[in-house]
Amino acid sequence: MKKHNFSAGPCILPQDVFKEASQSILDFNDSGLSILEISHRSKDFVDVMDEARSLVLELLNLEGKGYKVLYLQGGASMQFLMTAYNLLENKAGYFNTGTWSAKAIKEASAFGEVIEVASSKDANYNYIPKGYKIPKGLDYLHCTSNNTIFGTQMKEFPKVDSPLICDMSSDIFSRQLDFSKFDLIYAGAQKNMGPAGTTLVVVKEDILGKVSRQIPSMLDYQVHISKSSMFNTPPAFAVYTSMLTLRWLKKLGGISAIEKLNEKKATLLYSEIDLNPLFKGFAATEDRSHMNATFSLVNEDLKETFDAMWQEHGINGLNGHRSVGGYRASMYNAMTIEGIAVLVDVMSDLERKA
Ligand SMILES: *Cc1c(COP(=O)(O)O)cnc(C)c1O
Repeated sequence: MKKHNFSAGPCILPQDVFKEASQSILDFNDSGLSILEISHRSKDFVDVMDEARSLVLELLNLEGKGYKVLYLQGGASMQFLMTAYNLLENKAGYFNTGTWSAKAIKEASAFGEVIEVASSKDANYNYIPKGYKIPKGLDYLHCTSNNTIFGTQMKEFPKVDSPLICDMSSDIFSRQLDFSKFDLIYAGAQKNMGPAGTTLVVVKEDILGKVSRQIPSMLDYQVHISKSSMFNTPPAFAVYTSMLTLRWLKKLGGISAIEKLNEKKATLLYSEIDLNPLFKGFAATEDRSHMNATFSLVNEDLKETFDAMWQEHGINGLNGHRSVGGYRASMYNAMTIEGIAVLVDVMSDLERKA
């Protein structure tokens, strides 16, 4: 039985993408060769890379605005380091809104002064800080748009005079934003755009080349730009599968269409969390994420019963992260409203039985 996968990442991808990707493992483009065995320099693969890049600019509405798209390796975690390596000369500002932000701060601290502009650590990151003051003269300001572990999401982004960098690993392509407000966006593919193994970087070229240190080639954005993400062998299958997911999204009507669906999904689940007296939400209501909903049972004695019920209904990956506990339902783009309805039904069933 196909499961309803609520995992936080790696996670659900569209069923059609799984089908096409598996077909291409056997025979890619009727070439008699597998996508796994063709040269990354072959025309077939160069076309994949080109399309994967142009779909990103098209979907984010960033065409002709000075941005370059890179498909790199090392995960979003490598970007914690790479952003600072390439851009931090004196001081940078960071929002500390969760585990991933804190890790980004730790990596950047090796390269210059890091100013924590705002933090929600005092409340185990259950809200997005507001009313902060941003210092002048920063090399950049770094934020995390969606806090995957805690289930909070930034609804507004600060206006700054310095470059704005955003880790969008867990909500890229899920909602409309003015993406041109950001100078560098990065995202590990495995949350909302593809399989693990590649990391998307969208960078405005004019912010690069300003630090005085020497940057190792593999960590230098300008090197990867000049080689069109093929400085070394790219993670070909991960890029290919990401491209298929982006094609799927475009066919569906792009970000504005998926955003409407994501809103419906989130509303359905959060209404149940709020109305069902057996459950309580973790994140502050106004900061709730449309991608990862965190909640728990009011009475932990019901845990065994509830866990058995959702597992019986083919639900997978609902356990919360150890730093929050309870449950986390990830509702990425490929999750259907029917999938959410299965979970909501199980939750209301529990209320009837308890
Ligand atoms: C998962 C995640 C990361 C880490 O991604 P890796 O690709 O595993 O390094 C970083 N930031 C956010 C917001 C994430 O959700």
